Amino acid sequence: MQSVTARSREAGKFLLDVRSCGDDQQIKMRNRRMLLPEHGISCLNYTVDLQRAARENRNRKLLLPGNIIASPIYWLWRPELQNGTSIEVEFRLPQDVQVSVPWQRLDDSNSTYLLGKSPESSYAPAIFGNFDYRELEVPGAVLRVSILNGINEMNNDDIADWIVATANDVSLTYGRFPNPSPQIVVIAVGGGRANSRSAVPFGRVVRDGGETVELFVDQTQPLQALLADWTATHEFSHLMLPYLDRRQRWISEGFSQYYQNVLLARSGAYDDLYAWQKLYEGYERGRRARPELSPNEATVRGVKGGLMKVYWSGAALALMADVTLRERSAGEESLDKVLDKFQACCLPSDRVWTGEELFMKFDSLASTPIFMPLYRRYADTAGFPDTSDLFERLGVTVSDDVVSMHSNAELQLIRQSITETDTVAAGRRQQIAGF
Ligand SMILES: [Zn+2]
Repeated sequence: MQSVTARSREAGKFLLDVRSCGDDQQIKMRNRRMLLPEHGISCLNYTVDLQRAARENRNRKLLLPGNIIASPIYWLWRPELQNGTSIEVEFRLPQDVQVSVPWQRLDDSNSTYLLGKSPESSYAPAIFGNFDYRELEVPGAVLRVSILNGINEMNNDDIADWIVATANDVSLTYGRFPNPSPQIVVIAVGGGRANSRSAVPFGRVVRDGGETVELFVDQTQPLQALLADWTATHEFSHLMLPYLDRRQRWISEGFSQYYQNVLLARSGAYDDLYAWQKLYEGYERGRRARPELSPNEATVRGVKGGLMKVYWSGAALALMADVTLRERSAGEESLDKVLDKFQACCLPSDRVWTGEELFMKFDSLASTPIFMPLYRRYADTAGFPDTSDLFERLGVTVSDDVVSMHSNAELQLIRQSITETDTVAAGRRQQIAGF
């Protein structure tokens, strides 16, 4: 090793001691770098104050004593990861201390991990302590789920049932969950937030050394409320796309908005009329948000009032692409099938993609180009992709902002195939909900 760094500039604050392994020489620091001897070094011993690093985590007050979340950006000192190189990390922990990280696991005991190249969308959580860790199997994946109870306990079996049901919903896209081994973190936040009675007030995907889905849960609400909430479906749907350049976040948000509604209809959580109502309302919110801006312009950080354009422009393109694919191929192709092929070739991805790269790849996976033509038409065009003709052809009519469905529409069969209920998934949800 010639150079060893931590990702955060703050990391030096938490470093207590660094020595070379053989001669036990103390190594000096400058800025965030360790000043290694000129001939390099093969092994380092260093000590970090994890408790202190954990104070950087804004959710620390929600956790039970004994559990900490300390992102590796504060404690992991490592050589630069060049092309194709990776680092093996082995944890040796006291018997009653577990660890959860998003990295690729190399053994069954959860102690050895492989850290490879990855996009860095935010800071991965690393959790240490005594928490409820479960491995939940869904088609194509074993979810590594850590449930972090707060002062008021959750019913963790309910939480596990809900995670499995929701992950199963996402596997309705192409028969398997998009990431074979993601880190899932569930944190109890209570019902104290005055502005929200949502069962899942917040969720997010973090890409940093692996893929993490964090879900913040109001544990005072019943399982039925969790099952009716769209947040987890939305976040899990994000894993069907790679991490996109921030300036084109409207594509990843839009695809998740489209799929959360479509998948909740397929799983029976929504009836199909409700799913089309939600899509209609979303498209309307998108249409009213900053109509003078294009999707790419609205996604620039700090644009006021543009959020709904960011969330719904891509969802309009997803519907357009899905319907066109199905129509042109008499049902042989669909957005589901393009995403299926995309997962097989390219996920999980170790890099950041641009929207153009993604859509060009999608076009190469379809029989005729559909995505780039949509991108060229809408990405830099002010306004909002107009879906009203498409709704009409699908047999979804709108009157006073209320949708109704009529039969004998030109694309009625396509509409039905998009939101058709999967009876197995619906039965499983009903069983979990105790109906
Ligand atoms: Zn999202």
